[in-house]
Amino acid sequence: MTPEAEQFLRRAIALAAASREAGDAPFGSLLVGPDGDVLAEDHNTTLSEGNISYHPELKLAVWAAQHLTPEQAAGTTMYTSCQPCPMCTGALARSGLGRVVYALSGEQLNGLKSTGDFPAVPMEGPALYDEARVPVEGYYS
Ligand SMILES: [Zn+2]
Repeated sequence: MTPEAEQFLRRAIALAAASREAGDAPFGSLLVGPDGDVLAEDHNTTLSEGNISYHPELKLAVWAAQHLTPEQAAGTTMYTSCQPCPMCTGALARSGLGRVVYALSGEQLNGLKSTGDFPAVPMEGPALYDEARVPVEGYYS
């Protein structure tokens, strides 16, 4: 890890601390361009905004998709105080960001929580293939 990367991680950790101080969950992230310029930063606002999806990684992934070209997005690095959760990991894949550097791992985070990880919701399927494929067929080709 370069000293510059550690500085960006320390900024993400500071955003996490500020988030906690403001009454939200303690997570922060920033998006850095190829020249080392900070393009955007955010923190968790799931409690203050009443939205379970308002993790900083997901919010910055959405910001990148709205404000950057795919080429610009591919040149960015997200620095984040904690390893992105599965929800954010999915959004990050769709955003096309270049890479993610994190401080705490998900495993380290769970070691600091008394509640552990969220339980998975049971899913059932696939079903009704002949009907369900009709609106999708041809859409992606
Ligand atoms: Zn997340």
